[in-house]
Amino acid sequence: MFIQCELCPKGCRIEEGERGNCRIRVNLDGKLRTITYGFPCSVHVDPIEKKPFFHFYPGAKALSLATAGCNLHCKNCQNWEISQANPEDVEAFELNPLDVVNTALKENTPIISYTYTDPMGYYEYTLDMSSAARLQKIKNVLVTAGYINQEPLKKLLAVTDAIKVDLKFFDDGLYRQITTATLKPVLETIATAKKMGVWLEVVNLVIPTLNDDEKQIKAMCDWLVANVGGDVPLHFSRFYPQYLLRNLPSTPYETLKRAKEIAKASGIRYVYIGNVNSVDDETTYCPFDGSVLVKRIGYVIAENNIVNNKCTKCGNEIPGVWGNV
Ligand code: SF4
Repeated sequence: MFIQCELCPKGCRIEEGERGNCRIRVNLDGKLRTITYGFPCSVHVDPIEKKPFFHFYPGAKALSLATAGCNLHCKNCQNWEISQANPEDVEAFELNPLDVVNTALKENTPIISYTYTDPMGYYEYTLDMSSAARLQKIKNVLVTAGYINQEPLKKLLAVTDAIKVDLKFFDDGLYRQITTATLKPVLETIATAKKMGVWLEVVNLVIPTLNDDEKQIKAMCDWLVANVGGDVPLHFSRFYPQYLLRNLPSTPYETLKRAKEIAKASGIRYVYIGNVNSVDDETTYCPFDGSVLVKRIGYVIAENNIVNNKCTKCGNEIPGVWGNV
């Protein structure tokens, strides 16, 4: 007897003893189990800027973890050794949700980040860790492709403080071809996160010949402005050839600069370029007076001129979650 998984839009019908497309969810004795629950394969302490979050407690440290498997199969995945493996083939640690929260308390990390592979794949584990973290006033951040159905998404966002969504393409055909996902559910995730008041940042990896054309970038920016407004930070990120897309070149800096110009002209006020080691492209400038708000050198916060959520120079409010966590 098969089970229909309703977690993500793939809607896998899983026969007894079989697993879904993410390799994580298995039909065992007629029950759907997440086999990586309580078994992360990567646990590290990272700066929040690495996710990247630029408007969420700058300089804070996040206990960051992942389990093996993923509901997407991106041809350019950075973490393919763990995301595209069967969980039983990847070394993992036993850490139940309370162990994770206790580790965060011990390590003095005020944030837990569900990252590296997609936390929507190890959904129940993410949900239980997030609920337990909330009780200890630890913040939860999701680093995700946002490919999940609305009902489970809303349940998870209710215990989430910030979400970074990879908007990989603004083209459904490319989504299907390169990631095995589709565009519409990702857009719905972005809109829902904003509507629910969860702090949101968006990343777009610019891949030469796939999504570097100006029309696609402009259409994406216009959609963002129309649906979540101009205050949601947008990070363009440089692509480096890897995994199954080694045949493509890295993104020229000029292409990324052009994408930034298009985004700004569309009305997005906070636009960054990642993976290029440029202090200017990672600095937050005040859109009202042009002064430096947050200067980042790599993952180090060299300057922070936001006090009580306001620019210290002009006094205008800056969107984000600032201060000390
Ligand atoms: S979460 Fe996994 S099993 Fe469920 S529908 Fe998505 S890919 Fe299939």
